[in-house]
Amino acid sequence: MNDPKKQYPVQKSEAEWRAQLDPMQYQVARQAGTERAFTGKYWDHFEKNGLYRCVGCGEALFAPETKFDAGCGWPSYWAPVNSELIERIVDHSHGMVRIEVRCNNCGSHLGHVFPDGPEPTGERFCINSAAIDFAPKP
Ligand SMILES: [Zn+2]
Repeated sequence: MNDPKKQYPVQKSEAEWRAQLDPMQYQVARQAGTERAFTGKYWDHFEKNGLYRCVGCGEALFAPETKFDAGCGWPSYWAPVNSELIERIVDHSHGMVRIEVRCNNCGSHLGHVFPDGPEPTGERFCINSAAIDFAPKP
């Protein structure tokens, strides 16, 4: 499923990914899986003092200030920390046309972005909890 031409800065073998990630994290991040709604650990998580980091490489991808309750059962953000950290890929799976979002540093699947979010961007980044780790600021 990964674009074989794309060379991400962080490269690991499948064995290394499996050793690093738990089975759910691996299924989501490395096999573009989707956790069931309202089952992840961050859909109703609204702590302010920290950052949501890529489970694959630790890159800080989303900030609490952009998180909102979209009612969909997945953590939702109206923007990433930096748009260059996020790769957007057209996804034709499941009979839909969606925009997949991946970590641009390690290629891990994060979720999808939809054009129905709140201001100021109007975007909704619908992210799997299994693809991110909230790390409180020290
Ligand atoms: Zn990453």
